[in-house]
Amino acid sequence: MNAISDNSEAPGPFDVVVIGSGPAGCVTSLFLRKYGLRVLMLERQQFPRYHIGESLTGVSGDYIRELDLEADMVGLQFPEKSGVKVIGRGAKSEFFVPVLRPTWQVRRSEFDALLLDRALGAGAVHRLGTVKSVVREPAGAVRGVVYQPEGSEAQVEVRSKFVVDASGQSTVLSRHGVAGPMRMDAFGRQMAVFSQFKGAVRDPGMMGNNTFIFYADTHHWSWFIPISPELVSIGIVIPSTTFKRCGDEPEKVLQWGLANINPDLTRRLAEAQSVESVRVIRNYSYRINPFVGDGWLCVGDAHRFADPIFSFGVAMAMSEARAAADAIHRAVETGSWEQPFADYVAFSNRGQNAAFDLIRYFWKFPAFFGVQARGPMRKDFIRMLAGDLFEPHDIPALAMMRNSLALSPPPNIPEGLPQQLAARVMEQFSDFQGISTALIDWSEQPLQLSFLLSDGGWDLKDALKDFEHRLRSQYGADKVAVRAWIPPEHPGPALDRSQVIFRRSIQ
Ligand code: FAD
Repeated sequence: MNAISDNSEAPGPFDVVVIGSGPAGCVTSLFLRKYGLRVLMLERQQFPRYHIGESLTGVSGDYIRELDLEADMVGLQFPEKSGVKVIGRGAKSEFFVPVLRPTWQVRRSEFDALLLDRALGAGAVHRLGTVKSVVREPAGAVRGVVYQPEGSEAQVEVRSKFVVDASGQSTVLSRHGVAGPMRMDAFGRQMAVFSQFKGAVRDPGMMGNNTFIFYADTHHWSWFIPISPELVSIGIVIPSTTFKRCGDEPEKVLQWGLANINPDLTRRLAEAQSVESVRVIRNYSYRINPFVGDGWLCVGDAHRFADPIFSFGVAMAMSEARAAADAIHRAVETGSWEQPFADYVAFSNRGQNAAFDLIRYFWKFPAFFGVQARGPMRKDFIRMLAGDLFEPHDIPALAMMRNSLALSPPPNIPEGLPQQLAARVMEQFSDFQGISTALIDWSEQPLQLSFLLSDGGWDLKDALKDFEHRLRSQYGADKVAVRAWIPPEHPGPALDRSQVIFRRSIQ
């Protein structure tokens, strides 16, 4: 792909300056142009340029179709993705969540250049340069930026009614004290080490285009994303403490991850060769607040980013980009920014908080997550993993997750025991034949593992007795009890402090 040329001769004035030409910057500019606003995009890197973030969700696919880019995606031969397979610890369990609207795996250098090309085609002006500071009025309103054009020592001031920070992890407006300070969140001390490989073993046919997520211990996981007929993007994500322990050098840590995260990953990469340098990103999960103000707002990674395990980043950036363009358009039309920008904040928080809680739930209850993603709430899981997280009303499965996150075992139940038991149930009864519901009730000690059996389920009685015996000898007879019923003779325990592992009959 050719380098994208600067059309810097185009004259101002500009309604909006957009800092950064990643998905957030390009899609904001495209929607602003649909409203006829005059847009200047400032980007410090010559495109095409490398970027991480190659697996797109269903919502990103929707934007691609809406922006009429589908034919280009096909032309660039990006692999069509039909779902995500999550492979559990030791490769002992797995679940698949389909994407029901077509989407793609992309090489970001080409994908981002395509978006930029479209933004320029729609009339946005683009200059290659690095934003160095912000133009502020005495009362604090932002009215433009100062940037250094590529290859020049000069500093150029450009004024506008609004500035959009779409500078990704550079978080330009936060660094210049306009937006709030950056705060690390629960996944903050993570590191990602990644490269591209040839010769990895994929699944046959179209399934070979899908994302695999392999996980091991909490917050230790790996991605496997096919990005062309030959290449697969591989990344290892681990806490920074593990990084230090495993060699403290990117190449060594990647090798350690390939050998240790998951046996299925090891098998798939056994004969593969790395064809790219090994890259690292550190401490990338954060939030910035406030992220709007008089004359400015932040979109995408410029204000928030969480653990990328479910590939929400580009979908988040695109969804926010459209909402940001709507908010700016309304502010221009009404001459008042407060309400439109408050609506943008509410929209963004709804989606970002939903993504954050979904990821937290996954890491707290991976075994429940796997079973529930295949159970009666499957439709909600498919929607959420597609990136549909901005709905004004709560998604039932998300409400269930939030309830579970709010519950914590009473102090006499050892930390992590419910999760360990769920994993044991999954291993032991993975097909759930004869079981209509399995749940953990931790309202008192011993913690109760309850099985509601279907009609033929009494055949399981001996297996359940044996299971209880093994759990009690491992965790202590005062810690765990296993009970079984056939409803309707017994309706089973109340669900208020229970975590359902599996339920066939939830409506
Ligand atoms: P960016 O894409 O980072 O774009 C910001 C742009 O701003 C850059 O081009 C930069 O050069 C420019 N810029 C920065 N500072 C300045 C300045 N001072 N002046 C001018 N220009 C500037 N997302 C997914 O959807 N799928 C995935 O599989 C996925 N995997 C990920 C794995 C990892 C390890 C990480 C860390 C992230 C992953 N993401 C993934 C997230 C995804 O990369 C981002 O969410 C997405 O790129 C955000 O887009 P953006 O436009 O906000 O920022």
